[in-house]
Amino acid sequence: MIEDRHKSALLEMLGDKGVIADGSDMAGYQTGARYDAGTAALILRPRTTAEVSQAVAYCVRNELPIVPQSGNTGLVSGSTPDLSGTQVVLSLDRMAERFDLDLDNRSLHLDAGFRLSDVNSRLEKHGLFFPIDLGADPRIGGMLATNTGGSRFLKYGDVRRNTLGIKVVLADEAGSILDLTSELRKNNTGIDWKQVFIGTSGAFGIITECVLNIEPLPKQVATAYLVPASGAHVMPLLRAMEDRLGAYLSAFEGISKNSVSAALDHVPSLKNPFQGGNVPDYVILAEISRTWAPREGEQSLDAVLETVLAEIWETDEAPLADAFVGPAHEMWSLRHALSEGVKHSGKLIAFDLSFRRGDIMAFCDRMKADMPQAFPEVTICDFGHIGDGGVHFNLVVPKDSASASDPDFERRLRDWVFAIAIKDFNGSFSAEHAIGRKNQAYYDLYTQQKIKDLAQGLKAITSPGDLGTVRFG
Ligand SMILES: Cc1cc2nc3c(=O)[nH]c(=O)nc-3n(C[C@H](O)[C@H](O)[C@H](O)COP(=O)(O)OP(=O)(O)OC[C@H]3O[C@@H](n4cnc5c(N)ncnc54)[C@H](O)[C@@H]3O)c2cc1C
Repeated sequence: MIEDRHKSALLEMLGDKGVIADGSDMAGYQTGARYDAGTAALILRPRTTAEVSQAVAYCVRNELPIVPQSGNTGLVSGSTPDLSGTQVVLSLDRMAERFDLDLDNRSLHLDAGFRLSDVNSRLEKHGLFFPIDLGADPRIGGMLATNTGGSRFLKYGDVRRNTLGIKVVLADEAGSILDLTSELRKNNTGIDWKQVFIGTSGAFGIITECVLNIEPLPKQVATAYLVPASGAHVMPLLRAMEDRLGAYLSAFEGISKNSVSAALDHVPSLKNPFQGGNVPDYVILAEISRTWAPREGEQSLDAVLETVLAEIWETDEAPLADAFVGPAHEMWSLRHALSEGVKHSGKLIAFDLSFRRGDIMAFCDRMKADMPQAFPEVTICDFGHIGDGGVHFNLVVPKDSASASDPDFERRLRDWVFAIAIKDFNGSFSAEHAIGRKNQAYYDLYTQQKIKDLAQGLKAITSPGDLGTVRFG
């Protein structure tokens, strides 16, 4: 679907390793983590910002649409080509050379193609890490483009909060390079331009380098599965822990029984942490951490957690019904297996919602009450980052049901859930996965016209070329 002259020109520019044109080698770049299977015209794999710039300039001048791709773990159909066979995927998977650590500044200047796991294993020997934690292994550029949240948002915030600077290639005829790689934490000299490119799915430019804030690795961690006395007690429990633990509290993840059961069914090696194997209706995975090693005479972190839970237990109308403590890696293995478990329990229709924290459980209760009448075949398998208001609201229909293969069913279900989440609860239809083809229609429906106009103006002056899968205008 792409003219030979374009292939030849791009091959000459990027070399043999820089271009993939054969079907079977292209497969991994055309298939997404969960939903997508498209067809690319070509895969480009530049190694440097200068090569990205040249390739982008060529594509823009020749009207070849570009889809930026990093780890390809995104969940909203943003990183893969459509079925037209005309889009060029520009992958950052070879851009992983520069890795400049500044210990005094506690920052890391690196190429955007590094995997998160690679970054953290290099930082580990310095007792540091990039504090965004999730169950996938994305590349840094993709994390910036989606503004990843993750399980420890409560303590460390999202990618936006941990990015000091970026370098971007704009999709214009020159492939202009915008150098915003400031290493400063405080800089009030005008518009903070990097924010235009963070969390906007590559529509305004391709991020090729980043300067990240990094954090000391925790040296002590204590975790527990907590059973709230009821759904209404989840927020009082969170507030009681925040009051007593302050910055020690690093995760407060809510998990429904259906999600835990799906993970335990799908991954038999997982340990069931609950007494007698009886999974409670709803549990909280709570983690507390601190960055120094145990000191003599100081209460261990496990003991701190036990003391705090005992205090909460003894309060009037105690929000806590039960607690299960255990090794952190076992507790987190179960948490990180939830996505895969739910995915295997039927046809998954997933929502990445967020609410004011106090509304999360009310929304889930409303869904539990109304779903059986509105969509009787659907099972709710929700879990989420309750400490920051995020809910992975997963709906599963039996694989062999007619609804599982009916696109109209999925559309009606999505319309219904989003309408309640957004209109009745003032929630967001994309908490941390950003925008892609999967949720473009809801951006179009729920975004103010003035904001769309502003985005369109910004697009015209940054990257007028056909870049990314999202249309913000
Ligand atoms: C099992 C599982 C668990 C997950 N858990 C979480 C979670 O807890 N929290 C969370 O936030 N996300 C989660 N995700 C979603 C996903 O991992 C994140 O959105 C991730 O940050 C995407 O990064 P990536 O490198 O894979 O980007 P990709 O998927 O390759 O790309 C994502 C988007 O960014 C654009 N893009 C990619 N690279 C660039 C670049 N260099 N410049 C400009 N645009 C670019 C793409 O065009 C696309 O629109 C999960 C995914 C899976 C599969």
